Amino acid sequence: MIIFRKAAALFTYLKEQRENGLISGFVPTMGALHDGHLSLIDAAKKGNLFVVCSIFVNPAQFNNKDDFATYPVTIEHDIELLEGSGCDVLFLPGAEEIYPKTYDAPYYDLGLLEYLLEGAHRPGHFQGVCRVVDRLLDIVRPDALYIGQKDYQQCLVIKKLLRITDRQITTHVIPTKRDPSGLALSSRNLRLNNEQKNRASVMSQVLQFFKKNLYTTPLPQLLTVATERLESAGFIVDYVAVVNAQTLQPATDINEPLVALIAATLDGVRLIDNEVLNSPSKHL
Ligand code: AMP
Repeated sequence: MIIFRKAAALFTYLKEQRENGLISGFVPTMGALHDGHLSLIDAAKKGNLFVVCSIFVNPAQFNNKDDFATYPVTIEHDIELLEGSGCDVLFLPGAEEIYPKTYDAPYYDLGLLEYLLEGAHRPGHFQGVCRVVDRLLDIVRPDALYIGQKDYQQCLVIKKLLRITDRQITTHVIPTKRDPSGLALSSRNLRLNNEQKNRASVMSQVLQFFKKNLYTTPLPQLLTVATERLESAGFIVDYVAVVNAQTLQPATDINEPLVALIAATLDGVRLIDNEVLNSPSKHL
């Protein structure tokens, strides 16, 4: 695996690869890699001749300074995992490579998507996500992009970004990898001990509870029970929502494509998870 720290050098190298006909898949990450990230690399390996991964903890998408300061960094281990996964290129830029002095942040018109759910609780977050993804795509110019369903709203935002910026890149949304308890793998889980991880698994149990009871119990009742279960496990809940899977607007009919989404904080660690509840082909 070749490691690039400079955008210009990576750009030149990848341009040559493209000219030699190599089709590339790209996996952007913020590091502290786990099996969820590796499943994206795996999918990219299967679909492309050449795989590029980036690790960059993007300050622009953190609305909370403490969250940025405590975000886990495990670069040496990440490099080992990527070497073992067959990744061809790692882009490991410093902030000045992504946001040089001349960088002028564009505004991305994401519509309501920007302000719902994660957007409501993390103001500016999705503009920050668009900035980094836009910059990375400009540098890497991949044929295909691999992103995780774990960040459901982010997937919708990135798809919208590709439309706004008129990029012809195939997007592959990869299912969420979980540990045996059901807890969605996340870099932030590194900040939880085993007892906390046990309690955190309530999040995925609540999502399964929605799926099981969607057609037999009124939605408001499901939402109340779900919130209570999360709170009794020690979570401070930002939102528990069952919404239209494409627009993220409140559900009006249980027969429309629906997704359940949760964001909640356990002992200072904010976690998110989601589950599509019906007609999966009409979702992401
Ligand atoms: P992050 O490093 O958290 O920014 O994530 C980088 C990419 O990995 C994003 O597309 C995430 O949605 C994806 N990802 C994170 N956690 C998981 C998981 N448990 N399963 C599958 N993909 C994931």
